Formats: sequence, structure tokens, C-alpha cells
Amino acid sequence: MASQMTVFGTGYLGATHAACMAELGHEVLGVDIDPAKLAKLEAGEVPFYEPELEEVLRRNLANGRLRFTSSYAEAAEFADIHFIGVGTPQKKGEYAADLQYIDAVIDGLAPKLCRPTVILGKSTVPVGTAKRIGERARALAPAGEGVEVAWNPEFLREGYAVHDTLHPDRLVLGIDRTRSRRAEEVVRVIYSQLLQEGIPFLVTDLATAELVKTAANSFLATKISFINAMAEVCEAADADVTVLADAIGYDTRIGRLFLNAGIGFGGGCLPKDIRAFMARAGELGADQALTFLREVDNINMRRRTRVVELARDMVGGSLLGTRVAVLGAAFKPDSDDVRDSPALNIAGQVQLQGASVTVYDPKAIENSRKLFPTLDYAATALDACRGADLLLILTEWTEFQELDPASLHPVVRSRTVLDGRNCLDPGEWMRAGWQYRGIGRNCESGRRQHDPFEPDKFAVARSFFNTSEGKQ
Ligand code: NAD
Repeated sequence: MASQMTVFGTGYLGATHAACMAELGHEVLGVDIDPAKLAKLEAGEVPFYEPELEEVLRRNLANGRLRFTSSYAEAAEFADIHFIGVGTPQKKGEYAADLQYIDAVIDGLAPKLCRPTVILGKSTVPVGTAKRIGERARALAPAGEGVEVAWNPEFLREGYAVHDTLHPDRLVLGIDRTRSRRAEEVVRVIYSQLLQEGIPFLVTDLATAELVKTAANSFLATKISFINAMAEVCEAADADVTVLADAIGYDTRIGRLFLNAGIGFGGGCLPKDIRAFMARAGELGADQALTFLREVDNINMRRRTRVVELARDMVGGSLLGTRVAVLGAAFKPDSDDVRDSPALNIAGQVQLQGASVTVYDPKAIENSRKLFPTLDYAATALDACRGADLLLILTEWTEFQELDPASLHPVVRSRTVLDGRNCLDPGEWMRAGWQYRGIGRNCESGRRQHDPFEPDKFAVARSFFNTSEGKQ
């Protein structure tokens, strides 16, 4: 059965959700305050990079099931089901989430709600938000008690957003149990196709639904920082964190996913979500329960400085006057999202230490340029590598994993690579004459292969690697 609905916020989450709901057969109106974004979406262009989304968008624009608007009045008139997918970024100078965009939706929409309505939150919010905005919406709406707010957190991964929206691992719905179960009935209709496929559906109270999302992100962040902490120990003990991860990952209680040591997590979700979670726990008097997340955050941020230190060591102790090629700017592959990207952060730090940095990313150059206009950008990986003394691999795009090291020989000044994502085959690069270094990997893969044809400008670096044998 088809429903009519709106989706407020047409960013990474909202545009995907709107297009995918139309794909499920519903009539959908996407609402945003950004006219440039709306114009692109109306023209069938996705304003960011997300595999498969453009196809779904275009198909549903063409069949008339999907439209976009900036008018709240039109939205209130069009539907009695409204999803909220606006941003909840970190407040400036604080750990807490900035809820001004969520509040703006309620303040703009509620006074226009004259019929019984279900508002379904998808944004990631601090626990207690749904209850608060539900009371506010009912106070502002002519429909009063006929307005129900429920929470349906989103777990999609950028790069797999369409797949994750249409085939989620689970659906979670938080409802206000003191009110009617209308929200649950509405959601069961919206997701009927997914429910028929047997996707687990958990109906809970509002607070639990909000917490499920922050707990899931906290667990994922903890897993990444755990393996990065192991990488630090492996570097000190001359062990190999990649083998360690494989070995512990075979234990089904642990699992291998999210155990890749590297430059750490970033993006528009994990960093701000764990901080907002700590801030909210503090407000609730449960701050002690989450002090471990402070260490998770510290370990993560330490990776960025550590990689800069490794880069400096690899070029002989100072980055001043060196040329560094950075491959990867997005916070993860298959995305153009550079929000809090560790790759760009490292590129910026390397530049601040005096290196001339050229960045290449298959999809994120435009966004990177806006955030870091002072870095140089290249149109291809080969161009970025021209004259490079050091190559930094900072996002694990398949394109970089498939690079033939020999193809770079004519353009680089030195065959030196720091694999910040442990995504290259060290053997292949070393056989091609490269000095390879990964994260938390032992000296066998880090030891420099002497190239008699290279100028001797890295004598200091070589002596570092030789004397630190057994330490790296
Ligand atoms: P985003 O910044 O890409 O998109 C937010 C959109 O909301 C923008 O287009 C903005 O113009 C619009 N907006 C702001 N104020 C508005 C208003 N008053 N009315 C209508 N539109 C308005 O953010 P995002 O990455 O899509 O994240 C949105 C939420 O979803 C966040 O809470 C995030 O934590 C959560 N989330 C994101 C992902 C992800 O992978 N990006 C995954 C799960 C959950």
C-alpha cells in the first residue's frame, strides 16, 4: 500500500531516504532550505557522490513519485507523515549536538499541522530529544494532541546508502507508549515490503530507539580505536597488527569487520556522535559510564599526529621543502564526504610542517578544495605523484589498491610510501623497490630496500630505519 510522506533535509541521509521511499512505491516530497541542493535534485543530479543513488532518483522523478520543495506549507498540505533527516552537527566549542536544525523543522512545520500527523525522526539525536520535540510540536500545532512523534533511527553507511536503506540489517522504531500506536501502524505500512522480506523490526520506547543509534556508533568507534591501540602496541613490540586482527577476528565473538588499523575514523557521524553521547550522559548524571569514549576519541585523534610523525621520519626527519603526494581525501572510500576527514587533516598538518602537498581523490576533490583551499589538488593519482618524495595513502579507494607501483617510478622523486590504511600489498611495493611502511606492521614490511639509482637524499631516513630495527 502506498503512503504519502515528506522528508525534511535532503542531505546524505534525507535525499537517499526520499528516493528510496519513492522506490518502494510511496509518494514522496523532499523538503530542504538549500535552493542549490533542491535545484540539483529536481534536475536528477545527486549533490554528493553516492553509488546507485542517481539511478533511483531519476527513475522516481520520471515516474512522478518523487518531488522536491522548499515550502513548509506545501509539505504540511501534501502529507500527514513527515520524516526528519536534517543535520545534528557538533556545537562549536562543545561536545553536545547542535539541535537547531531539528528545532527549526518543528517550529516551521508544527504550526501548519491541522490534521492528525505522525512525525518520524531519522536524524541521530541525544536521548530525550524525541520526547521534547513531541511536546513542542503538540503545543504549536492546530492539530494539538493529534500530532505524534516517533523515532526511526537510520543506520545507513555512505557508499552503500541505497542498499542499506532498501535492505537494512534491522528497523528500529521508538514510540511514545503513552499515546496511540498510530506511528507503529504507519511505519508498518511504509516498510511493509521490507517487513515481508523478514527484516527484523524492533518497536521500543522513544529513549531506547534514540540510544540504539548512539550505542551502535559508539561500539563501532570503540572497535576501530581498539585495533588502533593494538597497532600502537604492535609498533612498540615489533609485531604485525594486520595478522593480529585476522587471528582475533576468527573468533566469532569478536569478528573481523571494523578491525582495520589505520589513520582512524572521521566523517559526519562517528566523531560527533560519540562526543554528543558523552555530553548527554553528563547531563543525565551517567557520565562515568562513558568515560571510556573519551579514550576512544583520544586514540583516534592520536592516529592523525602519529601518521604525520611517521611521514616526517620517512623523509629523513623534516618535512620542510619536501613534496608529498596524498592519495585519498574522503573520510572513507566510495564517498565524497570530507567532514572531519582524517585524510585531509593529515594532509593539512603535513603542509603546515613545510611540505608541498598535492592531493588526489577520485570523488572528493571539490569538497576538499572548499575546506582546504590552500592544498594543491591533482586530477589523477599519477599527477599527484609527480616529483613526490613521499606518497601517503590515506583513503582505501580500490583505485589506489590496484595501483601498479612500477607505473609511478617515472614520476616520483623517491619510492617511499606510507600506507595509512594498510590497504596495499607490502610485498608487491617492496619488490618494486619501494620503501613501504604501514600502520602497526613490523619491520619486515617497513625496512627500506636500497635503490642504487636513487639520489642519496634520504640517508638520514635510512639510518633511522636501520638503527630502529626491531622497533618499528
Ligand atoms: P547533511 O548535512 O548532508 O544534510 C542535512 C540537510 O538538512 C541539508 O541539506 C540542509 O540544507 C538540510 N536542512 C537544514 N535545516 C533544514 C530545515 N530547517 N528544513 C529543511 N532542511 C534543512 O547531513 P546528513 O549526513 O544527511 O545527516 C543528517 C542526520 O542523519 C544527522 O543527524 C546524521 O547524524 C544522521 N545520519 C547520517 C548518516 C550518514 O551516513 N550521513 C547515517 C545515519 C545517520
